[in-house]
Amino acid sequence: MGMDVIGKNAKNKRGEYFRNNVWWWRPLWNYCLTVHGDIAGAVKNGHSNNGDGLDADKAHALGMRLQKDIEDGFTAKYETEYREYLLSLPQTECQLCKGTGIRRDPIGVENGMPTRELDEEDSILLKRSHGWCNGCSGQGKKDAWDTNYPFSVENVQEFSDFLLNSGGFSIC
Ligand SMILES: [Zn+2]
Repeated sequence: MGMDVIGKNAKNKRGEYFRNNVWWWRPLWNYCLTVHGDIAGAVKNGHSNNGDGLDADKAHALGMRLQKDIEDGFTAKYETEYREYLLSLPQTECQLCKGTGIRRDPIGVENGMPTRELDEEDSILLKRSHGWCNGCSGQGKKDAWDTNYPFSVENVQEFSDFLLNSGGFSIC
């Protein structure tokens, strides 16, 4: 699933279309809302693809702000802090194996996971010779859900380029 952001009156190719999958879109739009809510807040629900968006003036203004953020180094600092935040999140218990690292539900049993022999690397890491879970690679824990949502300066740059050339946009 993705967010297709369509330029309403594109000046050129770069303003025609911007696409992020949902994982990338959420942090990007949150950035716009958090840092430039006075403009981005005009979109009713930027996290849903319901066709809402910004007119030409507002889209251009947001593009200029994002560009300035990048030039000032603000976006890079935000990216660093965002990554540090993700790294600070505690891992969560794997639901498939209830944190044991060995999947014993019917699907796990059917696929031989409780008795599967581990390769050398995994058995050293997991301190056992047998028993697997495909949900957590046998570790019993998974990275926090939010780590699925990446953010980067490059992505902001692409969005800014789009905004400056879009003539307004709608999120579809
Ligand atoms: Zn598991």
